[in-house]
Amino acid sequence: MVSGPWCARRRPARPGGRRSAPGPPHLPVRPIWLCRACGRPWPCAEARLLLRVEYDASPVDLAIYLSGLYHEASHDLFRLNPHDGPTPRDLLERFVAWGPYRRGIVEPG
Ligand SMILES: [Zn+2]
Repeated sequence: MVSGPWCARRRPARPGGRRSAPGPPHLPVRPIWLCRACGRPWPCAEARLLLRVEYDASPVDLAIYLSGLYHEASHDLFRLNPHDGPTPRDLLERFVAWGPYRRGIVEPG
């Protein structure tokens, strides 16, 4: 058996391959659900990567966690902005659809 220089199983690679980045972590500012670090709608790309790494071994838990966040964010954002906030579909795509179970959210036909 050949063992290469890879030791990938020891620790998951950090997104971007950097040490802990300076500045705040990519966590949401509630109730507006923007990223504390980069100001993008949360979960931003970095936050998604970190969640994927964190839940690598338990995708079901990630799906449940994301569904809970979707519920919380929907509550907050609709209350803050009931008329022209994001639609339920927008929020579903933002919080849930990128996760472990990403079948189409709308049945074709
Ligand atoms: Zn961010």
